[in-house]
Amino acid sequence: MLKPLMAGNWKMNTTIRTGADLVLKLRDLLKGVEDVDIVIAPPFTSIYHLSHLVADSRIKLAGQNMSWEKNGAYTGEVSAEMLLDAGCRHVIIGHSERREYFKESDSDVNKKTLAALRGGLRPIICVGERLEEKESGNTLQTVKRQVTGALDKLRPGAVKEITIAYEPVWAIGTGKVASPQEAEEVHIAIRELLFEMFGPDVKDVRIIYGGSVKPDNIDSLMAQPNIDGALVGGASLKAEDFARIVGFKPA
Ligand code: PEP
Repeated sequence: MLKPLMAGNWKMNTTIRTGADLVLKLRDLLKGVEDVDIVIAPPFTSIYHLSHLVADSRIKLAGQNMSWEKNGAYTGEVSAEMLLDAGCRHVIIGHSERREYFKESDSDVNKKTLAALRGGLRPIICVGERLEEKESGNTLQTVKRQVTGALDKLRPGAVKEITIAYEPVWAIGTGKVASPQEAEEVHIAIRELLFEMFGPDVKDVRIIYGGSVKPDNIDSLMAQPNIDGALVGGASLKAEDFARIVGFKPA
């Protein structure tokens, strides 16, 4: 079994002060946890401040997005170098909210993934089907297209640095979670695809699940052999809930 990765995506929530309160609570609650990688993705404006609060803890920081450009006249954008400099080791790329509201394409996700790796960040690449794609039986086709697109031109050796987050769009923020079996089936398909693309190196690639993960469903999700962790939205804003998710007990 791979070491689980539990990531909290705070989205556009928290100020520096409320984010600091949340991190201090989390640090306390997570003291005994040893065998899980823990990542939080606060808003850009809080990252540097929070980097000091997590410095001597197991919590690592992620950006929620980044530009594929290195620097220059791109008003409002943030580069890999800036995220690294502020204290991030990871970056979320291609979240469905970026794809939907900001029209990010598979090719944009690919450019960001390659730029993140070049810049020394570990990308957490989000894929997942919309409700209409699920209902028309196109889940696997959609997810495979997104994974193939995101990883175009990736050096085979770099695949070890990535994480794929399978996040069915219909499950994000809706309270509707994919059943553990439904999620497992997609995770297996992603693993097989990665193997076809990159060979045995993919044995170390974590495929995590996201979409209404809560304390009461994490145990059954983590009992699936191909679910290697979770990307958590809403529940990551409550220290007790996120700590319970991180400290899951496979059912
Ligand atoms: C997310 O946005 O990545 C997510 C999974 O959100 P939620 O847990 O709130 O469904």
